[in-house]
Amino acid sequence: MASVFNDLETIKRALERPRFGLMTDVDGTISPTAPTPAQAAVSPANRRYLARLTPRLALAAAVSGRAVADVRRLVGIDGVVYVGNHGLEHWAGGRAELARGAEGYPAIIQEVTDELGRELQEAGIIIENKGVSASIHYRLSPDPDATGKRVMAAINASAQAGRLRIIPGRRAVNLLPPLAIDKGTAVRDLIARYNLSGGVYIGDETTDIDAFKAIHEANRRRDFLGFALAVLSREAPPAVVEEADFTLDGTDEVARFLEWLWRQVSK
Ligand SMILES: [Mg+2]
Repeated sequence: MASVFNDLETIKRALERPRFGLMTDVDGTISPTAPTPAQAAVSPANRRYLARLTPRLALAAAVSGRAVADVRRLVGIDGVVYVGNHGLEHWAGGRAELARGAEGYPAIIQEVTDELGRELQEAGIIIENKGVSASIHYRLSPDPDATGKRVMAAINASAQAGRLRIIPGRRAVNLLPPLAIDKGTAVRDLIARYNLSGGVYIGDETTDIDAFKAIHEANRRRDFLGFALAVLSREAPPAVVEEADFTLDGTDEVARFLEWLWRQVSK
C-alpha cells in the first residue's frame, strides 16, 4: 500500500471536483492515541489545518465512535459537521439528530454498562456509556490481550448485551444498537446531504472500513471521486490498510496531508 505522498496527483483529481469533502475519524487519526479517551486531544497541527480547510471545502466532517457532544468538545472547530456514535448522531450548525430506530437504546446501554461494571471490576478497564452506545476500553490493562478475552466473555454472558451489536476496536469493544448504521452509512449520508462530487475519508481502525467501502461504492457513480486513507500505527488492523487506497504514517502525517490540502485549495 502506497503512501499518499507518492501519488498526490491522484488526490488532486478528487480535489478538483466542484464539491470536495474532507471526512475524518478523530481518535488515532487527528488525535494521537491516548491512554484513556478523556486524555485524548487533537494535535495542534491537525487542528490548525482542519480549521483553515473548513471554510474552503464543501464539507469538513469529523466522524467518530464518541458521543457527538464529546466529538464537538474534542475538535471544537466552527463549521465542522460532527457525526457521533458511529453514525447514530449527526450535528451540524446547532442542530442535533439521532438516527431513526435508536430511541429505545439508551435504556439498554445503561443496563448493560451497569452489569459489565459489576462483572469487570479489574484495573485497566474503563466502561464508557455514550448514551446510545458504549465502549469498554482495556488499553490500560497490564495484559490487554488477556483482559480483552475477559471483556468479551462478560459481554457474551450478558443477556442484555445480546440485544446489541458487538464490534471489537483498538483495545476496546464497542456495543451498538443492532441498526444498519455505521461509519459507512454515515459517509453515504454525508455525500448525499452535502452533494459531494469528490472527497477523502481518513481513518485508522476496523469501524473505518465501512467508511472506506462507502467511498469506493460512491466511486462507481460517475459523479463522485473519492479516496480512502488509512492511518498506520502499530495497532492498525491489517484489514484497514487492505481496504484503503493510500496510507498515512501516524497522526503527524495526517497533519502534513491536511497542510498539503490547504495549500492546494488556497492557491
Ligand atoms: Mg480511530
